[in-house]
Amino acid sequence: MPISLASPQPSCDARFAVRCYPRDYQQARDDFCVAAQRFGGRLAEYELPGRGARGERLVIDVARIGPPAAARRVLVSSGLHGVEGFMGSAIQQAWLQSAAPHLREFLENNGLEVVLIHALNPYGFSRERRVDADNIDLNRNFLLPDQAYTGTPQGYRELEPFLNPPGLPRHWDGYRLTAAGWILRRGISALKEAVASGQYDFPRGLFFGGQQPSATARVVRQQSADWVGTASRVIHLDLHSGLGRWGHCRLLMPVDEVRLRSWCAELFGVSLLDGAEARKRVSYPVRGTLIGWFNDVAGDCDYRGLVAEFGTYSPIRVLGALRAENRVHHATQRPQDQGQAVRDELRECFCPGNRSWRTTVVRQGLELIARAITGGLDDARQTSPIRLE
Ligand SMILES: [Zn+2]
Repeated sequence: MPISLASPQPSCDARFAVRCYPRDYQQARDDFCVAAQRFGGRLAEYELPGRGARGERLVIDVARIGPPAAARRVLVSSGLHGVEGFMGSAIQQAWLQSAAPHLREFLENNGLEVVLIHALNPYGFSRERRVDADNIDLNRNFLLPDQAYTGTPQGYRELEPFLNPPGLPRHWDGYRLTAAGWILRRGISALKEAVASGQYDFPRGLFFGGQQPSATARVVRQQSADWVGTASRVIHLDLHSGLGRWGHCRLLMPVDEVRLRSWCAELFGVSLLDGAEARKRVSYPVRGTLIGWFNDVAGDCDYRGLVAEFGTYSPIRVLGALRAENRVHHATQRPQDQGQAVRDELRECFCPGNRSWRTTVVRQGLELIARAITGGLDDARQTSPIRLE
C-alpha cells in the first residue's frame, strides 16, 4: 500500500504552518471552504442560531473528499470547544493545502472518504469562548439516552464559589494560591476530575454540560447517520488543545479504551497514547463527550474515536484563564466591549502565538491524519473487532 500518498508533504515548513492559522472565525471559514473546493471536496453547511462577534453567520461547514458514501471514512472534527478552533482549523487547512494532488484519486480508488467537520462551535470560535451561546461545554453535552442532564461532582460543589466568583476580576484575588493549596491537599488529578469532568447544575459556571441537547448536538444528531452510520469503519480524530505538555500531542480514548489501545499504539505510536508507559495521564473521566455519543449510535459500524489533545500551558494557568474569562462574560452587559486582556489570555492558552508551537502542532496534526487514513484502509488485520461490553 503506498502510504506515502497519504503522508504529509515535506514542504510543511514553519512559514507554511503558521500561515494556516486563521485571524478569526470568518477567515477560518472562508479559507476552509475555498481550500476544500480547490481540492474537489463536496461542501455542506449547517447554520446555527445567532450571530458572531462581527455580525457574521454561525455555520458548521463540512467538506467531504473521496467517494460519496464510502464504506470506510476518516472524520476530522475541529472547534467543539470554540476557541480551540484556531488550532483545529489550522490543521484542517494545512491538510487541504498540503495533501498530494493525486490523493483524491487515491481515495476514490481505495473506497475511503475523508470528512472534515469545521467549527462545531462557531459561536465560541467567533467570540473566542470555549463554550457555546448558552455557556455549554459541548464536550459534556452529548449525553446518552439513559443519562440525565443533572448532577455535579462533590469536588466541584466544594470549589464552586472559588471557580465561579461573581463580579469583575480584581487585580489580586488569590486564585493561584487557592488553586495551589487545593492541589497540595488533593493532587492535580483530583482537581482536574472534580472541576473539569462536567457539571449540570450551574448554568453560568465552568464546565457546564447544559440541561438539554445544544444547538450543535441537534445538528450532529441529525447528521450522524450521514457522517458515520452508513460506513462499516470510521476513524474519528476530534481535535482539541489546552491539556498536556507544551506542544505535545496525546491521543485520548474517551470510550472503548481496552479495545482500541493496542490498535492505536500500533497505528499512531505508543508514545502518543495518554498514560502510556510511565507517562502521567493528562485526561480525566468525562461524560457527555462527542466521541462517546458517536460510539453509542454507531451501531454495526466499527467506529474508532480519538481525541487528539495538544498541550499548551500549565493546568493552573489554563484554568485561571477560563475562570477569568467566564467571570467577565457574566459580569458585564456587553462582554465584547470589555475584558480584551482576559480574552487574549484565553486564546493564548488554547492557541499560543508562539511560532514553534504552531508549527509543531500542524506537523503532528498532518501526521495524525495521514496515519488515520492508513488505518482506515488497513482493515485486513482486525476486520471483526472484539466488543468488550
Ligand atoms: Zn477541548
